[in-house]
Amino acid sequence: MQKTLLTLITALCCTIAVAQEKPNVIIITMDGMRWQEIFTGADTSLLNSKKFTTQDSLSLVKKYVAPSAEERRRLMMPFFWKTIASQGQIYGNRKYNNFVNVRNRYWFSYPGYNEIFTGYPDTLVNSNDYKANPNENVLEFINKQAAYKNKVASFGSWDAFRRILNRNRSGIFVNDGFEDVPADKSSAAIDQLNKTQHLLPALFGGEERLDAITGFMALEYMKAHHPKVLHISLGETDEFAHGEKYDYYLEAAQHNDAIIKAVWEQIQHDPFYKNNTTLLIATDHGRGQGELWTSHWSDVPNSDEIWFAAIGKNIAAKGEIKTAMQLYQQQIAQTIAFLTGNVFKAEHPVAEKITVLFDK
Ligand SMILES: [Zn+2]
Repeated sequence: MQKTLLTLITALCCTIAVAQEKPNVIIITMDGMRWQEIFTGADTSLLNSKKFTTQDSLSLVKKYVAPSAEERRRLMMPFFWKTIASQGQIYGNRKYNNFVNVRNRYWFSYPGYNEIFTGYPDTLVNSNDYKANPNENVLEFINKQAAYKNKVASFGSWDAFRRILNRNRSGIFVNDGFEDVPADKSSAAIDQLNKTQHLLPALFGGEERLDAITGFMALEYMKAHHPKVLHISLGETDEFAHGEKYDYYLEAAQHNDAIIKAVWEQIQHDPFYKNNTTLLIATDHGRGQGELWTSHWSDVPNSDEIWFAAIGKNIAAKGEIKTAMQLYQQQIAQTIAFLTGNVFKAEHPVAEKITVLFDK
């Protein structure tokens, strides 16, 4: 009898302890991934173009081509369109007047990531070479809250995140470009990735490593160090698009989807994350249409058009959202703060969170 009571009390205490554990948030960004492919899969006119593809055309057809948009997008990003579409929410399909746009006036990377993480489309942030960001970001803000102190990390393929997230000031752990993870934050698996990244071709120059390294470094960091807020920035979609390689752009999206799946499976597998983590997926900007798909900036029409997805804690399973609305990139920062139970306040204005995301 006493033993049963003790077991009951222990079980109750554990339940309470788990319930009180502050929630985790993981944000994955896919650089310059178009809403057009997200919602309709491969564009066959681009895939058939000799100008934009070099891989074997038969195998490309097999990998990405199907009669309907629903089938094509599932071929390109199977995890996204099976699991997130059934258990999460996906915004930005303009066919349903479901609009997501960037609010900044530039429509390229640094201004986009600044908008995502500060909630403020600062007109002064006008270059990818912009200095260390003077605006406080939401990751930095969360890192100041006691329950999250030193539990916030960012892994990026592009070496600009040290400036975008101002790691010298913010104090959050940022690993980007071809940096090795330092010994005190590493593990045996991360050590292998530290070495491997220098033995792969630097396809995009010395500023940007391949996404498989970034993604799996972040995944191993989850296993070894349990960050409560984690950002993973993937870059290949944008690089291959600028390189006019449509086949490799689709492949990058497919590979990014596999990384997102691996992160989600780790969340499900690890009691630290399971049922207490929200995963957000976003992009920094859109791209042009037709032949202009390779490019994006304020003079390229439609490249301010983006999309947004979420799955996990506090996200009802509503799938692809087919109602008319207008959301903005600047709302993501306050959404991240809300998911940790905080209200993000900074010296700059911060846009409202995406309230519709939390409707039951
Ligand atoms: Zn970009």
